[in-house]
Amino acid sequence: MNYLTITGLRHLRMPMIGLGTWRAPPEEVQNSVLQALDIGYRHIDTAFNYNNEEAIGLAIEKWLEMGKGSREDLFITTKLPHIGNRSKDVEQFLKLSLNRLKLDYVDLYLIHMPFAFQMNESTMTPLQNPDGTFVLDLETDNVATWAAMEEQVRNGYVKAIGLSNFNAEQIANIYQHSTIKPSVLQVEMHAYCQQTQLIKDCRLMNISLTAYAPLGSPGAQMHFSKKYNYNLANYPDILGQPVVGRIAEKHRKTNGQILLRHLLQKDVSVIPKSTNSERLKENFNVLNFTLDDGDMEDLNNLDKGEDGRIFDFKFFAGVEKHPEYPFQNLLRKTEELA
Ligand code: NDP
Repeated sequence: MNYLTITGLRHLRMPMIGLGTWRAPPEEVQNSVLQALDIGYRHIDTAFNYNNEEAIGLAIEKWLEMGKGSREDLFITTKLPHIGNRSKDVEQFLKLSLNRLKLDYVDLYLIHMPFAFQMNESTMTPLQNPDGTFVLDLETDNVATWAAMEEQVRNGYVKAIGLSNFNAEQIANIYQHSTIKPSVLQVEMHAYCQQTQLIKDCRLMNISLTAYAPLGSPGAQMHFSKKYNYNLANYPDILGQPVVGRIAEKHRKTNGQILLRHLLQKDVSVIPKSTNSERLKENFNVLNFTLDDGDMEDLNNLDKGEDGRIFDFKFFAGVEKHPEYPFQNLLRKTEELA
């Protein structure tokens, strides 16, 4: 297993390959986590919003009870949801996640998104207006939320804290106004959206990167359209990209393995999701070959920059009007094209 050393109150080792669990239903994920742990995964990525923390907690509990390893062997990440993104709610949501995961601490706690919605207190879901738009919390103060995240490190409930879906300016703002600096940034990253400048910016601040949707999140389009009635035009098939296929043939690997290896060779950790036992193995088995400079260059050339972004979060209807919506540049581009 390869690790990234992440900084925080103290140094920690984050396994470079983790198991993603978004859209992994509770009835499947418990078994998948146990299978993944048997394969050798030690890093699990979840979130309050994924509604599967309890099932993951049961799997971890079982694995520990079976004597297959100790808590210290695991690296568990979860996230503060968009409905709890305010300083007074951090402790409440973290404790809820810990309770569901049956853990005393998580290794990494991320602010899931820089924007926030008002919460329906009884269902713990975002409030929506009659027209379906989400009720924005316009008071969002990420520096204050971050101070409450720091407090949880001091309380011992988390080992490291970080950000997800923040843009460069938002990250720099937290960096400048924090005592415990962000350890990790988790963002969309794959061959079509390589985040080259953001990686450089983060390296200057000693922030490690985790790539979400490293395979291009096949299947997410269906989810967006079913759950939010939101269709992304021209949803990309990154796994089916011919250059990726050619490099896969050359190395006798699968297209998925090439996409993951490309990110790993840039010192980025990856968290591919799978609940399929063969693909779980396939995605973990990416440390026994190396892409050469030519392969890396060919894959680097697939980058479409901002045009390659899949997750613009506009399936949360109205989110782009939130002052902390991170992708204002996308909006400007749409306006220019209109
Ligand atoms: P991925 O790029 O990991 O793709 C997952 C999809 O690809 C699943 O449908 C899976 O299906 C399929 N798949 C997995 N392995 C292979 C393979 N080797 N070949 C072909 N298909 C494969 O997308 P995700 O969106 O799930 O991102 C990964 C993780 O990142 C999430 O699960 C979540 O933990 C995190 N994430 C974080 C976000 C954030 O806002 N911070 C946003 C989105 C994701 P199957 O299960 O059937 O194998």
